[in-house]
Amino acid sequence: MLRAASSRAPLSYACRAAKIHQCAPARNHVSASSSTRLRLLPSGCRLVENGVRGNFKGWNTRRRFATIASPITIHDVSRDSIEVVLPSGARPRLSSEWLRDHCQCSGCIDYSTYQRKDQAEAWMAASGAPAIASATIASQHASLPVSDESGVLVVEWADGNVHGHVGPSVYGLTWLQRVLQPTRDTASDVYTRRVWTSESMTSSLPEATFAYTEVVTSNERLLQCLESIRDFGFALVESTPLTDEATHVLCSRIAFFRRTVYADGLWKVEVKPMQSASGSADEGDYSTADTAYSSLPLHAHTDCTYFEDPPGLQVFHCHASDPAGGGQSLLVDGYRVAHDLRANAPHTYEYWRRTPVAFHFTDASNQYIQHKPVIQTLAQDESVVAAFRFNKYDRAPVAMSPDEAAVFYRHLKVLLSAIRAPAGELWLSLTPGTTLIFNNHRVLHGRSGFSVRSPRKFSGGYISMEDYHNRIRVLCSQRKSGVTSD
Ligand SMILES: [Zn+2]
Repeated sequence: MLRAASSRAPLSYACRAAKIHQCAPARNHVSASSSTRLRLLPSGCRLVENGVRGNFKGWNTRRRFATIASPITIHDVSRDSIEVVLPSGARPRLSSEWLRDHCQCSGCIDYSTYQRKDQAEAWMAASGAPAIASATIASQHASLPVSDESGVLVVEWADGNVHGHVGPSVYGLTWLQRVLQPTRDTASDVYTRRVWTSESMTSSLPEATFAYTEVVTSNERLLQCLESIRDFGFALVESTPLTDEATHVLCSRIAFFRRTVYADGLWKVEVKPMQSASGSADEGDYSTADTAYSSLPLHAHTDCTYFEDPPGLQVFHCHASDPAGGGQSLLVDGYRVAHDLRANAPHTYEYWRRTPVAFHFTDASNQYIQHKPVIQTLAQDESVVAAFRFNKYDRAPVAMSPDEAAVFYRHLKVLLSAIRAPAGELWLSLTPGTTLIFNNHRVLHGRSGFSVRSPRKFSGGYISMEDYHNRIRVLCSQRKSGVTSD
């Protein structure tokens, strides 16, 4: 049964919520559907309504006005929801359950950690949704321990005892606007990605190239480097000192190395000769615990396809190379591969988007295996490619019927052809001091074969995607707020 909110709301609270009277309050009767919220009072103050209070049968409503510049106004209040108006003009309707769940008062949020306090089961145990008694916009409220210059939405509950909430629920309007109208995630490449071919990327390479000293001393240049990785899928850092420490210094500007079965942080890639029975090291006779440690060419692939969460960023710091001896580095934009498939072979695109492929890494000590699609799209928008996972060397054996095999190999042939399309292959001759950092969830990498006598040596490491995303978000926030310290 509905009860008049005013009969339950303590007057002292109403006064606290409305301690913003700079001008004489206006009193009007309004209906539940009234949308008028901004008034120009004779004083010339542009005022925002801060009070909608009344019972829901008669809607005898008392209104208050304040001088706060509220970015959000209340459009409609009912027992089970509140419709608000955002600066964009959008009018989201917030259910009472959502409001109860998102209360920002100090009884619901632990402000030392910004974690929720454990309340959900308690209020959801009550039968029926929480009932709203009234909604008000105030300049501030004692139940909200953090200040919000935009004001506070104050919701009085008709059945607070039943739903376990003492006093009103409060929501800072800046916080509410951010939740209801989220800005773009600065770590996401959805809106900024630049899908490339060899030709287009070659002309864009200066944009993706940075100097070591700049990246390690300037947060702005570091951010630009991370934005290049976000948008192109990679960045090149030139003039990196030829030491493992420099690799560490550069990577630690982004995040810490991810530990994997291959290395406890920094790894090194160089040809490792195996002594033959005769004691000599012959070409082609090398340790091949992984093909990467041989001198063989490597077709474009992503790393660690057999992990649930393959490393996000991969770092290659070139210490020694001899372009004449081969060993050029290859990059292929996995987004471009997916886009080409979608445009030219849509059945193949759908097949690799929907079909889990088995990848494995197996040796005497390890049995990693994953079944994942090659093309991953965003859960919230299936038209957006979010990740590419493919390594033909690491495909695991799987049983197939003749019919399944016919389909699989037909699509595999098209996939391999798209990956190996010469127009998409960006070949780079990395020279000593160049560090290549790339998104292993997007960019496939490989290399040409090289002479085993070629002094080819790299160090590098993996960085988890969430740590990279965390870093770019923080740096974007600092740039936005004008923080310039490096
Ligand atoms: Zn609360």
